[in-house]
Parts: sequence; structure tokens; C-alpha cells
Amino acid sequence: KANRKFHPDDTVVEVGGVAFGGGSFQVMAGPCSVESEEQCMIIAEAAKKSGATVFRGGAFKPRTSPYAFQGMGKDGLDILAKVKREFGIPIVSEIMDARDLPLFEDIDILQVGARNMQNFTLLKELGKTDKPILLKRGLAATIDELLMAAEYIMANGNERVMLCERGIRSYDKRTRNVFDVSAIPVLRELTHLPIIADPSHATGYTRLVAPVAYAAAAAGADGLEVEVHHDPAHAASDGAQALLPEQFDEMMKRLALIRSAV
Ligand code: PEP
Ligand code: MN
Repeated sequence: KANRKFHPDDTVVEVGGVAFGGGSFQVMAGPCSVESEEQCMIIAEAAKKSGATVFRGGAFKPRTSPYAFQGMGKDGLDILAKVKREFGIPIVSEIMDARDLPLFEDIDILQVGARNMQNFTLLKELGKTDKPILLKRGLAATIDELLMAAEYIMANGNERVMLCERGIRSYDKRTRNVFDVSAIPVLRELTHLPIIADPSHATGYTRLVAPVAYAAAAAGADGLEVEVHHDPAHAASDGAQALLPEQFDEMMKRLALIRSAV
């Protein structure tokens, strides 16, 4: 179902007035973790002003250590719903367990994180929902495995799937992951689904986020997911890769120039 061979035209995934795919470029921005209402309001206001069209925030966090901050859970989703009402902007947030689906009623896009890309039980359940799914490439997943994960969702009835390149695991410690820029044109050939890039988790460091975002835009991505925080030093997670609102604004301006050039 994801295969371009059988569906030559690009799929456009529309959500809350935002259209992914088909030539537009959408930027989903916000903190790694929802930490408080105040934090989300500050970041959402700035991100929207700079041109972000979707707000991101994690309420259920897939942390490496069980002793690390696990996210605010339902309270976090309630804050995201308030952001949506306040700024009229769709929300994307990660779901780790299909049993939480009732809590995600106000969330517009359900994110499947890299760690759950091959959680087939979760994928099948999300295939029975009618919400767009942002499916992130697994930590060490091949492009074909990513496409087959999308099939799990689509085969169960939900064809509103977006794919996200977020870097794959390698041996080099200088970057958190290795961003596979070639995955963008390869996916473009193989599938009609929208292709998103996440330069934040791909690199792990603030100073590397914008260059990778520019590369993704130049390579033809349909949009980005980017972490933004107004106080990265005190972020509950992923502070080292967060952009300050002013850095995000600068990146958005340059992205517009790059997009007009390609
Ligand atoms: C995230 O987007 O919050 C996240 C945890 O990303 P990934 O699943 O790509 O690591
Ligand atoms: Mn993060």
C-alpha cells in the first residue's frame, strides 16, 4: 500500500488545515518533553511566530533509563490540548502503548518513536485508528524495514502515514546518530507517503541541527520535526540538541531561502 508502483501520485496527509506532502513544507516544532503549561505556551508562541505549523511535545517518553524522567503522561497531553486551543495549531505526540489511545483524543498526529518502529502490536492497533501517524525510522532499521512497518499500519486500514528519517545508529560518538540524507530521495522513489526529517535526534547537538535541516530540505523532504526549548540547560530531556527560539527563527528564515533555490 505504501509502494509508489501501485500509487504513482504523492499522498497528501491533511490534518487541522495543514497539508503534508504534495509540494508543501511543514515544520513540527516544540520541546522534547512537555514539562509544564508555561513552558509549552512560551515555546509554542515563539515556534508559531517563526512559521512552525504543528506543535510537538512528548508526554510519554521512551527513555533509555527507567530512572530518567518518563514524561508527564496524561497531564502532559492535557497541556498539549490547551496549546492547541490557545494557538489553533495541530499537535503531534508520541504514543508508546495502544492502551493509551483514549488519552490521545485531542492529539492530531500520533508519533511512533524509533524504539517502537517494529512494535507490530502497536502498529496494528494504530492501523485501526483514523489519525495520521508519524512513523520514525528505527534505531538500526533499513529503509525496507521502515516501509514494511508503514505497511503494518496501512494494511489495518489507516493509510495516513508519514515517514520520518531521524538518523541511524553507528559507531561514531561525535554525533548522536548518523543522518541518512539519501533515505529521502530513496523513499521518494519507493513510496508516495510524505517524508519528514528530524535533524534534532539525528545529530544530538544544537549546532548540528540547522545544517542537517538544510540538507534535508535540499534533498526534497516534505517537512521537519525539530526540538525547540526556551531554557535548554534545564530541559527534562534532550537539552543538548534543543534550539533556542531565536535559533529556530534563524533556521526557518534560511530554510525558506534554500527551499526557494531547489
Ligand atoms: C522524540 O521525537 O521525542 C523521540 C524520542 O524521537 P526518536 O523516537 O526518533 O528517538
Ligand atoms: Mn527528544
